[in-house]
Amino acid sequence: MTTFPTPRPGILDIAPYVGGESKIPGIDRPIRLASNESPLGPSRKAIEAYSALAPEIHRYPDGGSTELRRALARHYGLDAERIVCGAGSDELITLLTRAYAGPGDEVLYSRHGFLMYPIAAKSAGATPVSAPETNLTADVDALLAKVNDRTRIVFLANPNNPTGTYLSRDAVKRLHAGLPPHVLLVIDAAYAEYVVRNDYEPGIELVEAHKNVVMCRTFSKIYALGGMRIGWAYCSAEIADVLNRVRNPFNVNAAAQAAAVAALEDVAATDRAREHNDIWLPWLARELENLGLEVNPSVGNFLLVRFADADAAWSHLQKNGIIVRKMGAYGLSDRLRITVGTESENRAVVATLAGFLGR
Ligand SMILES: *Cc1c(COP(=O)(O)O)cnc(C)c1O
Repeated sequence: MTTFPTPRPGILDIAPYVGGESKIPGIDRPIRLASNESPLGPSRKAIEAYSALAPEIHRYPDGGSTELRRALARHYGLDAERIVCGAGSDELITLLTRAYAGPGDEVLYSRHGFLMYPIAAKSAGATPVSAPETNLTADVDALLAKVNDRTRIVFLANPNNPTGTYLSRDAVKRLHAGLPPHVLLVIDAAYAEYVVRNDYEPGIELVEAHKNVVMCRTFSKIYALGGMRIGWAYCSAEIADVLNRVRNPFNVNAAAQAAAVAALEDVAATDRAREHNDIWLPWLARELENLGLEVNPSVGNFLLVRFADADAAWSHLQKNGIIVRKMGAYGLSDRLRITVGTESENRAVVATLAGFLGR
C-alpha cells in the first residue's frame, strides 16, 4: 500500500515539457532563437493597451473575452459565438483533449508533431498514438491507417513545429474525409500568419463545413505576445459550448485580451513581421545550406537544421551567446531548431556556425 497520494495512471508517464532556454550563465543579453518568438517584438499599440490596464488590475477580466472574440470575428469574417479564447492555444489543446478523450481512448498525431499533443493525451489518461511521417511531413495515409474505434482526436499542427512543413488545403481535406464523424480533427495553425503559399488554408473552411473540426490559433507567434498567454479556437457551436463548460471562468486575463485586440488591429505591425520573415527565412536557409548543412524546407519562422553533431553545435552556439533549441524530445537529436531573428542575430548565427564548421 502506498503511503502518499498518487496521481491517476498516465500522469507520471509524462515527460514534462521543457521550453526553450532563455538564459546563459555569464552572458548578459543572449541571442534567443529557441522559442519561435517574433524578433520584432509586439505591436506598440499592444504594449500601450497592456499598460493602460495597470490601474484596473483589481477588476476581474471579462470571462467571455467578448471584445476579443468580436475583433477576431470581424478580422477573419467568422461567427464570434463559435470562437473560444484560451490562456495560450496550449490551454485549448489541453481542454479539448480532456473534454473528448479519456482512459481507453486514443489521441493521434504525427511522429514529429508538436509535443503538447502526447502530453495532453497522457494527462487526460488517454493513449497517445503517433503515425510515421514522410520527409518530416505529416502523412495523411499513415495517419488514417492508425485510426480505429478507440480514436477520439487527431491533432495536426499545420504548419508543424518543429519540422516547418505543412499540408496543402487538399491534403487536410483528404485527412478529414477519411475520418469517421465521431473523431475530432484539431488543426493547430499557430504559424498560419507566416505562410505564403497558394495551396495553404488554416482550417476555417473545414470548420465552416463540418462539426468535427477545430482550428486553434495563437497570439504567441507572429503577434509576439507569448508572455501574455493568449490563443483562440474556432469550431462548431457544439464544441464551443463544451469548451465554455470546461474552461475556467476567467481563463484569459484582462491585459492579454486588451493587448490581443490591439495587436490584431495593428495590421501594419503584423505585415512588418511577415515581411521580415519573408526576407530572412530564405536568407538563413540559404546561408546554412552554403555551410553544407541540411535544412528542412519551412513555411514558419524557424528552421530545422541537421548536424553531424548537433549537441556540439548547440554548445558552440551557447558559448557564443546564442540559444537555439535541441530536438531530442522530438526524436530528432541530430537536429537543432533555429528561430529567425533580427538581421544581426541571423548574421551572428551564420558566422558562429561557420566558425564551428571551420568554414
Ligand atoms: C507555439 C505553439 C503553440 C502554443 O502556443 P501558445 O498559444 O503560446 O500556447 C501551439 N502549437 C504549436 C504548433 C506551436 O508551435
